[in-house]
Amino acid sequence: MTSAQTQGQDGRRRVVLASGNAGKLRELHGILADLGADLISQRELGVDDADETGLTFVENAILKARHACVVTGLPAIADDSGIEVDALQGQPGIYSARFAGISGASREVADEANNRLLLDRLLEAGATEAKQRSARFQCVIVFMRHASDPTPLLCQGTWEGQILLSADGANGFGYDPLFFVPSHGCASAQLDPETKNAISHRGQALEQLRRCWPSLP
Ligand code: IMP
Repeated sequence: MTSAQTQGQDGRRRVVLASGNAGKLRELHGILADLGADLISQRELGVDDADETGLTFVENAILKARHACVVTGLPAIADDSGIEVDALQGQPGIYSARFAGISGASREVADEANNRLLLDRLLEAGATEAKQRSARFQCVIVFMRHASDPTPLLCQGTWEGQILLSADGANGFGYDPLFFVPSHGCASAQLDPETKNAISHRGQALEQLRRCWPSLP
């Protein structure tokens, strides 16, 4: 890929999103479009998923972004996120998507199995009171200018809450039906998308990215 191809015909910076998640692409597209960048899904460019072999959200986000840079020759954005539950010593953490070990199933099936396992583990741990069920979503978003960028931009968001005793709400995905949001007195899956994006871990990290973007070299 030549440097000319790193810009579209209109001179806008082309950036690959190292995720096949349509929802994330939509959110980021809107934000970066305002800032003069064109975001392209890695799937559109034929990039396969990177192996998430890191031990932190930061490492996994960098692995994903670097892989997309290597394959496309473009700058890349990647995110990694998950939920940490205090009564489970921070589990499932970076393993949130694969907590119940379900692979190859639909996202809905995997989400349901993960949620059931989380409730079971908290019961086993004897964590039945709200104060014993503290948890937080974490999100790291990384921007890498090229595959060997030694100073990737790191943006991070944290969203504090508690794990409910049973699922509630129909919005969102993943652990949203089990995540009680103290500021709104309901489950994350009961928030409309705009409200969630304004306060969530991902929303906070995206806001940092939006603020830093114009001054990036
Ligand atoms: P990834 O960042 O796409 O690898 O997702 C990590 C996993 O963390 C997801 O599959 C969900 O299980 C969980 N997760 C991350 N962010 C959220 C959220 O906003 N709501 C619910 N679950 C989430």
